[in-house]
Amino acid sequence: MIKFFEKLLGLIYTQQCYFCRSTKYDTLICPECRKKIHFMPESVFLKINSCCVYTAVLYDDIIKRLIKGLKYNNKKQLAKLHAEIMYEYWQRLNIKDNFIILPVPIHKSRLKERKYNHMDLVAEEFKKYTNYNISKNFLIRTKDTKKQYNLHRDERIKNLKNAFDINEKNLIDKEAKLLIIDDIISTGATLGEIIKILKEKGYTNITAFTLSTPDIWN
Ligand SMILES: [Zn+2]
Repeated sequence: MIKFFEKLLGLIYTQQCYFCRSTKYDTLICPECRKKIHFMPESVFLKINSCCVYTAVLYDDIIKRLIKGLKYNNKKQLAKLHAEIMYEYWQRLNIKDNFIILPVPIHKSRLKERKYNHMDLVAEEFKKYTNYNISKNFLIRTKDTKKQYNLHRDERIKNLKNAFDINEKNLIDKEAKLLIIDDIISTGATLGEIIKILKEKGYTNITAFTLSTPDIWN
């Protein structure tokens, strides 16, 4: 009987791999699934408005499920893994600057629906690794944009036009090094709009970093 309960407890408390459900390693991601993550080369992925954009990994099956789980399925524990993968890549770049992290914001109506902005959670976890500060309420999403994934490139750009602003009550020093973070870069329209507004407001030192890319340019 005791054995039975021990077994039952074991089943409850052993961490499953989120991706393949294996309980062999008691981790959120098992070594086999981790091996399937493809890191990007350690260089600038692209420049938007002369700002460097880095991206850590390819948007393939594991990453797709990670982002989906964190964003839509309330799996908040995936924020740590999201940040950990970003940090693994970030370390390789050997950038010594001290940044202020700006998570890409979601519109307040979407925040109401989802209860949290997943990139805020990732920023908190990324901060633990880097010791950078975060400014969560600096960028604001002024437009409740349509979901991007079923739109074509031109539609995405149009959809996001003037979708962001900055909170004048929460100003950051103009000399600060800003690090915009997001989960995925596809057309670059989101980051492009954010960089545009930051530049308009006089910020010049801007870098962007995303977890992943579907790699449509290369
Ligand atoms: Zn696994």
